[in-house]
Amino acid sequence: MASDWTDEELRESVRAYLGLMEAQRAGRAINKAGVYRDLASNFTSRTPKAFEYRMQNISYVLSLLGRPWLKGVAPAKNVGSNVAAKIESLISELEGRPSAPIVALEIETRQRLKAPMPKAPTGEKRPAFITSSVTAYRRDPAVRAWVLRRANGMCECCDAPAPFVDSEGSPYLEVHHVRQLADGGSDQVSNTVALCPNCHRRMHFGADSAALTAKMYSRIKELVPESNI
Ligand SMILES: [Zn+2]
Ligand SMILES: [Zn+2]
Repeated sequence: MASDWTDEELRESVRAYLGLMEAQRAGRAINKAGVYRDLASNFTSRTPKAFEYRMQNISYVLSLLGRPWLKGVAPAKNVGSNVAAKIESLISELEGRPSAPIVALEIETRQRLKAPMPKAPTGEKRPAFITSSVTAYRRDPAVRAWVLRRANGMCECCDAPAPFVDSEGSPYLEVHHVRQLADGGSDQVSNTVALCPNCHRRMHFGADSAALTAKMYSRIKELVPESNI
């Protein structure tokens, strides 16, 4: 049984993964097996196969964050919440984009969902604060407003009317970046759609999120697929 992964092993795994993502987005050929071999030659207590599994854990963390993952590296959830939280913080560190941690909460919730139904937990009457430094992208209100007007109260994914009106009587839709801002997407009309809350969550967390994203490109003429080229 191999020992726990060191921070350095995890960091270099995440760095390699993000490099592969970058190459994939730019349309460059990628050699995943070669990357796993290189990692294993730097960290000799691990096999290429072990790094391949780690990459699948990184896909899993990205899926919990509602982000796309590397093609061909299916999310594998055999990762403890501590290691997943480390992977999550390495992703934001290496992308230079601190964000509030959510992955440990998601994993611990999922683990509890599999256990027999317990007595109702006490919870916290006064939840403690967690302070973290977060970075958000500046969004252009002109882009948001334009896309909401294009949608005209209908979800641009399922065509259903907005499910409710907001307190001002306007149809409630959410603005989504088809190539996510975290993945280098632009905040322009050519990368933005207005969605009902169901379709929006599904676009991030659905098993069919990649197919739905492809569908948006084919049905909305202003959208232009973005790459790093
Ligand atoms: Zn919808
Ligand atoms: Zn979104």
